[in-house]
Amino acid sequence: MRTSQFLISTLKEDPKEAAVESHRLMLRAGMIRQIASGVYTWLPTGMRVLSKVINIVREEMNKTGALEIAMPMVQPADLWKESGRYEKYGPELCRFKDRKQNEFCLGPTHEEVVTDIARREVKSARQLPLCLYQIQNKFRDEIRPRFGVMRGREFLMKDAYSFHTDKESLAKTYQDMYDAYSRVFTRMGLEFRPVEADTGSIGGNHSHEFQALAEAGEDTIAWSDGSNYAANIEMAEALAPEYDREPCADAYSEVATPGCHTVDEAAKALGVESEKVLKSLIVHGNKKEDGKHELVMICLRGNHELNEVKAIKIDGINDPLEMATEEEIAEFTGAHTGSLGPVGFKGRILVDRTADKMSNFACGANKTGFHLINVNWDRDVPNYEVFDLRNVEEGDKSPDGKGTLHLRKGIEVGQVFMLGTKYSEAMKCTVKDENGKDVPMIMGCYGIGVTRAIAAVIEQHHDDRGIIWPESIAPFKVAIIAIKPSKSQIVKDTAEQLYKQLLQAGVEVIYDDRDERPGVMFADMELMGIPHIVTIGEKSLNDGNIEYKLRKTGEKENIQASNALDIILSKLEK
Ligand code: ATP
Ligand code: MG
Repeated sequence: MRTSQFLISTLKEDPKEAAVESHRLMLRAGMIRQIASGVYTWLPTGMRVLSKVINIVREEMNKTGALEIAMPMVQPADLWKESGRYEKYGPELCRFKDRKQNEFCLGPTHEEVVTDIARREVKSARQLPLCLYQIQNKFRDEIRPRFGVMRGREFLMKDAYSFHTDKESLAKTYQDMYDAYSRVFTRMGLEFRPVEADTGSIGGNHSHEFQALAEAGEDTIAWSDGSNYAANIEMAEALAPEYDREPCADAYSEVATPGCHTVDEAAKALGVESEKVLKSLIVHGNKKEDGKHELVMICLRGNHELNEVKAIKIDGINDPLEMATEEEIAEFTGAHTGSLGPVGFKGRILVDRTADKMSNFACGANKTGFHLINVNWDRDVPNYEVFDLRNVEEGDKSPDGKGTLHLRKGIEVGQVFMLGTKYSEAMKCTVKDENGKDVPMIMGCYGIGVTRAIAAVIEQHHDDRGIIWPESIAPFKVAIIAIKPSKSQIVKDTAEQLYKQLLQAGVEVIYDDRDERPGVMFADMELMGIPHIVTIGEKSLNDGNIEYKLRKTGEKENIQASNALDIILSKLEK
């Protein structure tokens, strides 16, 4: 490709809207442009990368025996009503009506549509297992689209769905997908970890996420230094402490803590560490007959964070997790949020495992501006239930008992689920078992965030000059920069010849024939992350050389002009 025939859309200035490196560089390198919040056009440079990633995904999916299909983005609401998700999915699901007032939605995921296909097309158990996949745009009306294509509203996903008669077959396909995902992300040059994951609104009971390690990641993963244990922090179990409570001291007493709203403020006022203060939150429980919610107190050690995913898994807690309002709290306890505590609380009390081991602690008095000190469980709070409710922290013991946990930030680039029969049961997607009885198919589903994974690659592979593409997904493998070809016939001829030779050898090459200042051309090729850059100038040519630079390391060398093709070919990854 000649730059004169290509659309180079590089930007000199840093776009203001970009908060992370990948977003900044995708805009600056001319890969993407936003047309509405979270909705992007892929320009030619970006599209070349996207096509490569799509090819890798497709090749690896096909290797597993999965069959490619194309499902529509527009989906009838009726299917979603059958599965029960039309009401449940919330505002991320973009719902609309056609001119005849039929209800539709834009697919955020395709379990319903694919289950409908399977129930109509699969006539016999002998046709199973079956795995169908597509690479297709999804729409999710994300509450906070951000970081460019990392969290877009319209984005490209590879989604696959498998159908089985038995769990063993599901387990095999799950493993095949897991292995295929590992190959996809390895081929893309990502450093990633598969981690145990929550199943969220998709459902199911067993799941792994593939997390690309990067500081810009929105997820936190916990991994053990003594075993293979790795999990999304949403799932990572915090073990109960091994120590016992200390003996109770004197009876509790009330202390004025005017103006203290947070645990830290209360700890300071009381002259203790925040670890000695109980954090008490009030959340919504089940809805009562009067339409109001029951109020449930959650107690954590003062310096611990509530884990919402763990909380909503407890029976009787509203999903999604909702904090009680100031008004509800005032009405129920008579106090402000900063002065809450379990002593005398009239509702259900859920206590985290570590908070359960606290003794002689401080907590709010359920009286605005007052705390209690020397409070003890059982003696002062007779009724409470103990659960794992907090986020694990750096240094916690690994839940498998082996090693210590550490935390890293991750970008979720894929997720695999064992779904079970959630959709097949609701939508009557059945096959006959050996006794002739109709039984629901057992399902798995598997997603890769194709566009997000590209942003993740950039987060891991860039420097202050731009993107550093792994060769496997670079928009071009080689860039040829000709210095002032209009002024030097030999430069022009050499560049043209090398360009043609590389094309003939099947190498994806971009030939910068713009006749711009060398610095401008070089900056663009580096920004666009082209792995191998050769510069052809008259001075070096007079010595029989052209200049070669490896983008990844910045190493430069002079290579023989007469032998340039072979030398460059030898530098390309096989
Ligand atoms: P997240 O927790 O980040 O919102 P998710 O768990 O809801 O994602 P899945 O339903 O598992 O997403 O979708 C499969 C894959 O699609 C994800 O692993 C992710 O890589 C990608 N993905 C999900 N939401 C987005 C988005 N808003 N923008 C870009 N990619 C996304
Ligand atoms: Mg997910």
